[in-house]
Amino acid sequence: MNDNDFIPFFRPLIGDEEINDVNQCLRSGWLTTGRYAKQFEQDFADYMGRTQAVAVNSCTAALHLALEAVGIKPGDLVLVPTYTFAATAEVVRYMDAIPVLVDMNDSDFNMDMQKTEQILKDIALGKKVKGVPEKHNGVKAIIPVHFGGQAVDVAYCRKLCDEFNLLLIEDCAHCCPAYYKDNDGTWKMTGSSADIACYSFYANKTITTGEGGMALTNNEEWADRMRIMSLHGISKDAWKRFSREGSWFYEITAPGFKYNMTDIAAAIGVNQLKRADSFHLSRKTIAEYYTKKLSDIKGLRLPIENDNIKHSWHLYIIRIDEHLAGISRNDFIKKMTEAGIGCSVHYIPLHIHPYYKENFSYEDKDFPIAYQTYTQAVSLPIYPDLKDFELKRITDTVCEILNK
Ligand SMILES: *Cc1c(COP(=O)(O)O)cnc(C)c1O
Repeated sequence: MNDNDFIPFFRPLIGDEEINDVNQCLRSGWLTTGRYAKQFEQDFADYMGRTQAVAVNSCTAALHLALEAVGIKPGDLVLVPTYTFAATAEVVRYMDAIPVLVDMNDSDFNMDMQKTEQILKDIALGKKVKGVPEKHNGVKAIIPVHFGGQAVDVAYCRKLCDEFNLLLIEDCAHCCPAYYKDNDGTWKMTGSSADIACYSFYANKTITTGEGGMALTNNEEWADRMRIMSLHGISKDAWKRFSREGSWFYEITAPGFKYNMTDIAAAIGVNQLKRADSFHLSRKTIAEYYTKKLSDIKGLRLPIENDNIKHSWHLYIIRIDEHLAGISRNDFIKKMTEAGIGCSVHYIPLHIHPYYKENFSYEDKDFPIAYQTYTQAVSLPIYPDLKDFELKRITDTVCEILNK
């Protein structure tokens, strides 16, 4: 095998349109937030069917701004799945609030809403709940993650939010685009149920700007707060100040952050968004191919698409049961790497990381489903630029390793 034969875990698909617009941006003399960022906000809000969009330099920044805008305070509790990336919970700590971790469903990797309900009830009754300190201000929000691009049970989640008076901040990092069927039978974009929904354009997400994120909401007041806080708490954005219609005057209204999206990134984003649907279709086709070729292998479990969901297929995660498959997950990945195929693991659950163990007394066994899933999970490559012959090599290799 030479280097050219390596199939990476992810390869972005960047076309001439992205490159031309980045060139144009660079030649225009305006590199930071400006025309392209405004365009990207407008296009993204239209695509997702929301009224307000705030473009920022990461989904982490968007989640942080969202919690700040809705008024999360020190000592507030925020429910977060343990089976997620670092960002979902760390933003809660940015506010000096406390992330309360919840186990996942075995079937679809999503935050278990029944367990979420139980935790809400126990906290309301003053019962002891793992990870919750004695002194706190009660639960103020939930941040569900639509894991891998499969929507959580939105109706159930919304019901809990209404019942317990919680804000719903959705981590939609895997959801550009994904859909769910609402109670009234209509298809909705994943994120449209949220008070604020946050999207990621990190290098290996479904569409990318290299680094980037977006917060969407229909609440103008929250959107204004997020805009101001994304740029030092200054009352007007720099573009308005320095363009011809602007003036030199500005006021600092709060100690804000530096989270604005550059026009260089947005010039990539406006063009990636135009291809979001065709990218989605490619990933769906790859997922169907995997599911067809890899079914009925002993010890191998494939991901599912729930009823009334259109999965984004950001991730395609297989699970290896060591006892049935005769090979451990780690050895499986080693063999895939030796065969020149990049795999990954999404994710190492938050509760087994040192920070959460040491500060919130979690133990591995606290969330048995997440822990077991973590020991079995392997993410296979899934992206539009994956060639047919590469796909065939991936499935052939998996079958060979697992003796199909
Ligand atoms: C990637 C990711 C984020 C963070 O996105 P950034 O744009 O890199 O900040 C947040 N949550 C989840 C679930 C992610 O996968």
